[in-house]
Amino acid sequence: MALYDKTAHELHALLTAKEISASELTAEVLKRVDEAEDKIGAYLEITRDKAAADAKAVDDKIARGEAILPLEGIPCAVKDNICTKGIRTTCASKILENFIPPYDATAYIKLAAQNPILIGKANMDEFAMGGSTENSAFHVTRNPHNLERVPGGSSGGSAAAVAGGEAVFALGSDTGGSIRQPASFCGVVGFKPTYGRVSRYGLVAFASSLDQIGPLTRDVTDCALVLNAICGHDDMDSTSTAAQVPDFTKALVADVKGLRIGLPKEYFVKGIDAEVETAVRNVAKKFEGLGAEIVEVSLPHTEYAISTYYIIAPAEAATNLERYDGVSYGARVDGADIVEMMTNTRTEKFGAEVKRRIMIGNYALSAGYYDAYYLKALKVRTLIQRDFTDAFKDVDLILTPTTPNAAFKLGEMTSDPLKMYLQDICTVPVNIAGLPGVSIPCGFTSDKLPLGFQLIGKPLDEATILRAAFTYEQIS
Ligand code: GLN
Repeated sequence: MALYDKTAHELHALLTAKEISASELTAEVLKRVDEAEDKIGAYLEITRDKAAADAKAVDDKIARGEAILPLEGIPCAVKDNICTKGIRTTCASKILENFIPPYDATAYIKLAAQNPILIGKANMDEFAMGGSTENSAFHVTRNPHNLERVPGGSSGGSAAAVAGGEAVFALGSDTGGSIRQPASFCGVVGFKPTYGRVSRYGLVAFASSLDQIGPLTRDVTDCALVLNAICGHDDMDSTSTAAQVPDFTKALVADVKGLRIGLPKEYFVKGIDAEVETAVRNVAKKFEGLGAEIVEVSLPHTEYAISTYYIIAPAEAATNLERYDGVSYGARVDGADIVEMMTNTRTEKFGAEVKRRIMIGNYALSAGYYDAYYLKALKVRTLIQRDFTDAFKDVDLILTPTTPNAAFKLGEMTSDPLKMYLQDICTVPVNIAGLPGVSIPCGFTSDKLPLGFQLIGKPLDEATILRAAFTYEQIS
């Protein structure tokens, strides 16, 4: 196996044993990037010089006989909506095309404290709005398993980088599935932590009550290592939780005996592809064979999750994106007066999907419609949250498909936004309820496209998810 295809923990062992150097590893990955990037297009910016310099610093540390941290010297990608000081952060938008943040996101500061090697900033749907990375203002990203297919989105660049050997792990963000869905499409592990677990400070805001940063990795062990690095309270984010962060590697125990796993009947309905359903039911059988108890549960408000999400997320987005006015940040397109300048800036520099969300959001928030749409959505949000609270009285975890189908073809859904939105049916309820959820690979379709299943946990119970995911990985 090529070095660039190994996991972080395997590479850590090789670095510690001095069988490879961080510089060699980084050079290998950058070589892979040179070969693959034309086809895959995972990155918006490649931080080549910084990578080489940082790798050398790690090698110097090893040469001095110092111990290295688990992610030290490991090449990674960071989604381009996570602010990196001095490194362009565009959110895949023309409006931020030349934005160089004067500060780092907290999650990136925490990650950087582990001295991984940043290979570059990963492509995404503009402002994280989308599920295919086709909404990037700069270029599309292709699925490394099949270049005719999308990698998913919005963290499609992050997922494709990890699946394509262009980074060993990546950070993404997940507002309605943007870590888990691309992870599923690309055959990697993608974890959305509990809302509040990872600081959102320096994550360019899309929908603030839903956004959460998390890891995309090659296996569950790496996922635990990255979670260890990025979780924790932050005074700069008032929604960040003060809850203690456990050592997530302690959860990597192959044992699900006695664990109660719920299968929600509302997730196995018309619209779910037969191959997806079979794969997820087989996962349930495997868990059962390992001593877990599989029980049917009901999440009765699931059918309202998409409509609820597509009111709340655009409403918050419309508010958050008000700041891109041609004055405070980013690009400006001149006009005769200030109104025309703002209009020109926003018309020219925002892409179609972003404009659509701003319009939906402002409509739902406008005086005449606030009660009928936004307020109603908030009420349904509570009902969806309660569904989970009730289900979790009976089970420890909930098992579902991550997506209704495997990766679709490029261009297949771009003309039909509603169809694209329906792709999020299995993932958005988790954000609406603020819960932790992961997507774990579970085989391939007959067309050799990766499949994934989702495990949803109780609030702040990432550990139980990791334990079950790790157990499954050991036997698959
Ligand atoms: N596909 C969803 C959307 O377009 C989710 C996006 C996300 O999680 N960032 O809103």
